[in-house]
Amino acid sequence: MIDLHCHIDLYANPYEVVRRCREDNIYVLSVTTTPKAWEGTSALARDCPRIRTALGLHPELAHERFREIELFDSLLPKTRYVGEVGLDGSPALHLHWKTQVEVFDHILRSVAAAGGRVMSIHSRRAVVPVLNALSRNADAGVPVLHWFTGTKAQLERAVAIGCWFSVGPAMLRSQRGRALVAAMPVDRVLTETDGPFATKNELPLQPADVREVVGELAAIWNTDHSEVEERLTESLRRLLRSS
Ligand code: MN
Repeated sequence: MIDLHCHIDLYANPYEVVRRCREDNIYVLSVTTTPKAWEGTSALARDCPRIRTALGLHPELAHERFREIELFDSLLPKTRYVGEVGLDGSPALHLHWKTQVEVFDHILRSVAAAGGRVMSIHSRRAVVPVLNALSRNADAGVPVLHWFTGTKAQLERAVAIGCWFSVGPAMLRSQRGRALVAAMPVDRVLTETDGPFATKNELPLQPADVREVVGELAAIWNTDHSEVEERLTESLRRLLRSS
């Protein structure tokens, strides 16, 4: 099982979450929301090689944490993964849009200068500006758009510039989300939960809940669970080789 976007450090019981990931042999991209959180979050997974910790600066926090951008740059050589980063066009954040764009552009330039990374990217209500920023910084590595909610045309543009997609249970609950997943290239789709932010029956999703996504993908791709698992494992290998 693969959870390519999970906030392990933000669960009430992160050690328990790590223990269960190890027990179930789940590969996890453990994303962070601030550069300051990176060292501590990495330490959670110290004995767990299948949990990789990404260095992030969440767009919802860009206006509060932009001063940590220097810390971001200094930590970047320590990891092959960046996230959660991106842009958020929600009305509540309009006031901070300029800061968000500056922070995201800075991050993409740093990542390009460092030789590129696998990046888990937030693009809520901001798909076009995110794709524009990625196009301006084409050497920043491999972008994985997490919880993509754009249009079909935006999806096509994202595919054309090399984006991958991580898909979670919440996204597959809507007809629209399932139609988008069906339009994604099969070899660029991976699974995620976005726990503990994303929930099911008001409880935070756990990394093992990606099982649900495997079932949905089997239906969408018209194949069985084991074939889906094989494809996802192969895709993950390819993604990690590319970084
Ligand atoms: Mn997230």
